[in-house]
Amino acid sequence: MRHENLFVVTGGSRGIGAAVARLAAKTYPVVIMYRENADAAHRLVHEIHAHGGQAWALQADVGDEASLLRALEQIDELGQMAVLVNNAGVTGGVSRLADLKAGNLSEVFRVNVVGAFVAAREAVKRMSTARGGKGGVIINISSGASVLGSPNTWIHYASSKGALDTMTIGLSKEVAREGVRVNAVRPGIIDTELHQQRTPEALERFASTIPMGRMGTADEVAESVVWLASPAASYVTGCLMDVRGGL
Ligand code: NAP
Repeated sequence: MRHENLFVVTGGSRGIGAAVARLAAKTYPVVIMYRENADAAHRLVHEIHAHGGQAWALQADVGDEASLLRALEQIDELGQMAVLVNNAGVTGGVSRLADLKAGNLSEVFRVNVVGAFVAAREAVKRMSTARGGKGGVIINISSGASVLGSPNTWIHYASSKGALDTMTIGLSKEVAREGVRVNAVRPGIIDTELHQQRTPEALERFASTIPMGRMGTADEVAESVVWLASPAASYVTGCLMDVRGGL
């Protein structure tokens, strides 16, 4: 059976991506992409099946074009991609810029920027009505870091998210008349494994600066992502949606 409305989440094995996949599976058949955590991805697939949803797990390193293209070919066999959530991301570790290793900088841009651009390029090829597609939605998971700059922690990571914001604005305009909406969600500090390199004290200190007084949850971010994907957001494109407790 061919599926006409596949919802594809990169980095769907854990954290925000897993929460997005879980929520989206109530409405769409979901493809969960992961880099190395096959067990977590397949556990989530089973969980979705147990709740009556449809899901598949596919391995791909989004920063490796050949690997990503192989996974997209497998998705094409399942059906038509209607939604792409560019969620896979890495931080490149905590360091001040003066101590930043060029290798860490390259890795962050390889995954967060090149990966998201190539995935968006392939999504547009498949979704654009100008290319025979039926339209669709691309959602980039950016970060509040793109606005805050993340001094003393990860300016490199914040800058990669700045690139995603700019891509969201430009691409949304480029494909606005081709049935494709492009938006970004910018989470603040969300309770996931992404922060495992920070000390609990540093995380607590940072969290105390949030006006709402707490970290966000992956489920709270997922609600915004799934809303942006839905027909309820049919006139929303080029939006950088902050989900960060006022930070
Ligand atoms: P996380 O818990 O560390 O999960 C990261 C996910 O990305 C995992 O599914 C991982 O797959 C996948 N991934 C990493 N590198 C990959 C690669 N090269 N190719 C394919 N998949 C890859 O992170 P998270 O907190 O959920 O973050 C998800 C997104 O939200 C990221 O883009 C992050 O920058 C953004 N964000 C997070 C926060 C926050 O506070 N947590 C705030 C703002 C923005 P494996 O499980 O297979 O390793």
